[in-house]
Amino acid sequence: VSDVSRVFTSAGKSVAALEHVTFDIQAGNFVSIVGPSGCGKSTLLKILSGLLPASSGTVAVNGQAVRGPLENVGMVFQAPVLLKWRSVVGNILLPVEFARLDIPSHTERTKALIKLVGLEGFEEMYPHQLSGGMQQRASLCRALVTDPQLLLMDEPFGALDAMTRDELDMELLRIWEERKKTVLFVTHSIQEAVFLSDVVF
Ligand code: ADP
Ligand code: MG
Repeated sequence: VSDVSRVFTSAGKSVAALEHVTFDIQAGNFVSIVGPSGCGKSTLLKILSGLLPASSGTVAVNGQAVRGPLENVGMVFQAPVLLKWRSVVGNILLPVEFARLDIPSHTERTKALIKLVGLEGFEEMYPHQLSGGMQQRASLCRALVTDPQLLLMDEPFGALDAMTRDELDMELLRIWEERKKTVLFVTHSIQEAVFLSDVVF
């Protein structure tokens, strides 16, 4: 991330969400970004993933400039953003369909992920039948189903109760260690950041 700034203009007012942000992340590291609400964390992740353009500055992943949505990246948003007309399994398999990958060969993996996050028995339920925490677990499975190298996570467990959050933090660490992923994790919990990370910004 090199000298990235982002200005939002709405109703004649402009907000500088990010100003001259520069940092590097090493492949395989678990990196957290900690900051108060409104300091530009979500904006930064959206720019990194190619969902939102920067006003100035550049972002590169694996040496390639980001100019649009990236492949091989999993994103967990602050809100679950599930498709309400699709079941849990249908939502989790969405990235598989978008990437035109084979669905049967991802079925075992989907099952394992559902078990990992404790959603067994809810596979055929629809988002409105789930609690907020359960929806966020489904969105975590969706981010992991294609086994992406880079995981961008925006306060993924912030809405969960403290015990479930600790449990999912542990699972995330295990996944990261086993699969040698690079994780960029946004949180407002200093404790969570210190517990999880190699590097904290
Ligand atoms: P954080 O994730 O750290 O809480 P955000 O990145 O969501 O912060 O927002 C940073 C600032 O940018 C806030 O002041 C917010 O109001 C503003 N902002 C974010 N997205 C938009 C948008 N789409 N339009 C206008 N302002 C925005
Ligand atoms: Mg945010």
